[in-house]
Amino acid sequence: MSFQVSGKVAVVTGGSSGIGLETVRLLLEQGAYVAWCGRDAARLQDSWQAMAVIFEPDRLHIRCCDVLDADAVNAFIDEVAQRFGGVDMLINNAGQGKVASFADTSDQDWMTEVQLKYFSVLNPVRAALPYLRQSPIASIANVNSLLAYKPEPHMIATSAARAGLLNLSKGLSKEFVDMGIRVNSILIGMVESGQWQRRYQERSDPDQSWDDWLAGIARKRGIPMGRLGKPIEAARALVFLASPLSSYTTGSVIDVSGGFSQEI
Ligand code: NDP
Repeated sequence: MSFQVSGKVAVVTGGSSGIGLETVRLLLEQGAYVAWCGRDAARLQDSWQAMAVIFEPDRLHIRCCDVLDADAVNAFIDEVAQRFGGVDMLINNAGQGKVASFADTSDQDWMTEVQLKYFSVLNPVRAALPYLRQSPIASIANVNSLLAYKPEPHMIATSAARAGLLNLSKGLSKEFVDMGIRVNSILIGMVESGQWQRRYQERSDPDQSWDDWLAGIARKRGIPMGRLGKPIEAARALVFLASPLSSYTTGSVIDVSGGFSQEI
């Protein structure tokens, strides 16, 4: 089935790795024009090279920028709109979580985490809004986490900030509905991506393989489907929410957690 995004323009923040990169790939497979950003220039360039050997470079656009830098985000999105003629879909994916309990989280850590979760969405939304208002299929899809519903003590600041982001997404969906802009989120559990690769590098048993290490986490955490998610599984839900296939859905969430959510 087609996602009906051929010829449409998508912006994916944090598109150089993991879920973001799979989202970029899927949108390109579906015929969209895709722009993405990341902070690390070499990693971003590598992701462009990987896409450019498969897809027409005319449909690819990258810019090295931190989503917390409002001026840089404005410049990125203006440049995309000028090059591709507008912005139809904004996918807010850039970010990372902070593993720390209450005892280990300083005031500065709290500020950093709240700033990341809110402004990684607010800055791109502000920048893209004038263009989204012109689009007949305008949509914003935010990557969020099951932590928004289900706080974990070892990620206390991330959990609280994620809950705020979920509330913010709902609020934006209400404010933007009259502009014809839909706003939705995915709630992910654990997805094997760059963040988990970095944690694997710090594993206690250096002889343990990646697959065994992941299987151990799934077992220990009690994920009903018995494994972590793949980045493409999160990407499919994101592209569905960003695309006209979900044209009657706003202010909503899709759970991509392998059954880890206990909510009904
Ligand atoms: P990855 O580390 O593989 O990818 C993160 C991407 O975001 C990279 O391209 C990174 O590039 C970019 N990025 C991070 N911070 C910024 C920033 N400030 N400005 C611009 N780009 C940024 O991890 P995931 O694919 O797992 O992460 C995607 C999203 O999913 C994140 O928001 C993460 O918090 C969320 N998430 C992931 C979970 C998981 O289990 N994987 C669980 C819950 C939520 P660079 O570092 O070069 O900037």
